[in-house]
Order: sequence, then C-alpha cells, then structure tokens
Amino acid sequence: MSNAPAAYSPAQHGRYACYGSLKGKIALISGGARGQGAAEARLFVGEGAKVVLGDVLDGEANALAEEINRRAGSRAALAIRLDVTRAADWRAALDACEREFGGLDILVNNAGILNFSRIEDTSEEEWDSVVAVNQKGVWLGMKTAVPAMRKRGGGSIVNISSIYGIIGSAGAAAYHGTKGAVRVLSKVGAVHYAADGIRVNSVHPGVIKTPMTDVLPTDQLNSIAAMAPMKRAGTPEEVAYVVLFLASDEASFVTGAEFVVDGGYTAV
Ligand code: NAD
Repeated sequence: MSNAPAAYSPAQHGRYACYGSLKGKIALISGGARGQGAAEARLFVGEGAKVVLGDVLDGEANALAEEINRRAGSRAALAIRLDVTRAADWRAALDACEREFGGLDILVNNAGILNFSRIEDTSEEEWDSVVAVNQKGVWLGMKTAVPAMRKRGGGSIVNISSIYGIIGSAGAAAYHGTKGAVRVLSKVGAVHYAADGIRVNSVHPGVIKTPMTDVLPTDQLNSIAAMAPMKRAGTPEEVAYVVLFLASDEASFVTGAEFVVDGGYTAV
C-alpha cells in the first residue's frame, strides 16, 4: 500500500542522513522502542543527538539502542524503562539523561495507546487507562522536562497527538478525547514557557504504518488510508522528519503550533 518515496527512509539506505541539525542535543523519546518513536530515535542520532529511549518494552528498547550505537560507532542511545503513567519513572528517565549525557534539550512525548470503543461502550477502566498513558503521560513528561530544560536555557517539547485530536470519528472515544487534550495542553505549554526559551508544539499523524495500526485487518487499514487524498498510509519516517524539524533550532520561532502529517486526510 505504501508508495512513500524511498528517500524518506534513511534506515532503508543502511546509513543515516546527517546534517548535524541536532548536534550536541540530548533527547528523551517516550515510547521510543518501536514505530514512530524508533524512527525518531534513529533520525535524531543521525543528526548528532544523544537519545534516551523510554518505553515499557524493555527488550525492544534495548535492541534498538544496541542497533543505533553499533551504526553510530559510539554510545549515542540508551534504553530505560519508562512507564509514562508513573512520575517516579519520569524522574528516573530524566536522571539518566542528566547522568549519562549531561542534560535534556528535547522531549518527544510519543508513547500512546489506541482504543476503538464508542462513547457508550467504553468501560471506566478502558477510559482511565487510555487517559493515563495518552494524556497524563504527556503532562507528566512536560512537568518533568521543563525544569531541566530551563537549566539549559531552553528546549523543545514535541507532543504526538493525532488527526483524531482535531477531528471526530464514530469510535475510539477515549483516544479522541486524550489526543484533543494533548493538542490544547501543548498550546498551554507554549504560552507558559515561551519566556524560558522552551517551545512546545503538537504533531498530528494520520494513518501511519506501525505496530499500532498493524492490529487492524489490512482491508480496513487500506480503506481508512484511502480516505486521504494521497490514498496511502504514511511511514514512521515521514512523521519523524517533521518531529526533527520541530526539535531542531531551525524551528526557533515555532511554538504553540500543530502540524498534520496525514497525506491530506484533514484537508478534505
Ligand atoms: P506503536 O504502538 O508502534 O508505538 C507506541 C509506543 O508507545 C510503543 O513502543 C509502546 O510500548 C509505547 N507505550 C505504550 N504505553 C506506554 C507506557 N505506559 N509507557 C511508555 N511507553 C508506552 O505506535 P506508533 O504508531 O508508533 O505511535 C506513536 C504515537 O503516534 C502514539 O502517541 C500514537 O497515538 C500516535 N499516532 C499514531 C498513528 C498511527 O496511525 N500509527 C496515528 C496518529 C497518532
């Protein structure tokens, strides 16, 4: 289904594109073990950053850190257990950034879980678990990162929302609610922390081919993706390049903004 140009995937070329746009930066990526978070980690290291991968998938996160370090030829990535719903895990992740690499400049609040239930079919437990990861997790990440970024004179927070944080659909009630909350919370952070040199933006992917969407039957995924004018799912790398821009100093006047990466899905 994906007709994405090969040039969009540095990993496919067996090497990283490297322009050094994150040289000297230290990044923490939640949910960094796979999918979009993994694509961001590979790209960020290729651009000169040190990256801490925080995830609940210890095996996958460790394997990715090893792969990145092997390719980079240096210790550029570190995996750490981070359950984004736990404040203590966030403190430990920040400690790791400061102890291992010297601070924190970039936070990508990428961890997320998807649910499919409609409003009246969503159980209280399901609602609470989606809110805990997608909404509370983003707030805790920002709360943890801000003082550390302030110490460094500024930073960039990129919150991964979704097109489902902008538009509605018939199902996925808790997911829509949390992703909408992330969109506005990002603007609150942008307003509040501009004076500290901390930029906060949200990214809104459309249908992206990752383990999250792999749970859908191929026909269903294809028919949702076909609703976008580009009529295909995106790749994790196509999102990662937008996140890279927002993370970098090239986006120095960009804050409180929302970026759709959706093949035109929300333009229709
Ligand atoms: P994915 O399932 O491959 O990756 C999500 C990652 O988050 C996984 O590594 C998972 O282990 C991690 N995670 C889940 N719960 C966690 C927790 N409590 N603590 C720490 N990590 C946790 O999916 P993806 O597509 O790469 O998703 C990345 C982000 O993009 C998510 O926020 C998702 O909601 C969003 N998004 C995805 C799509 C899509 O079509 N794939 C579309 C719009 C938005």
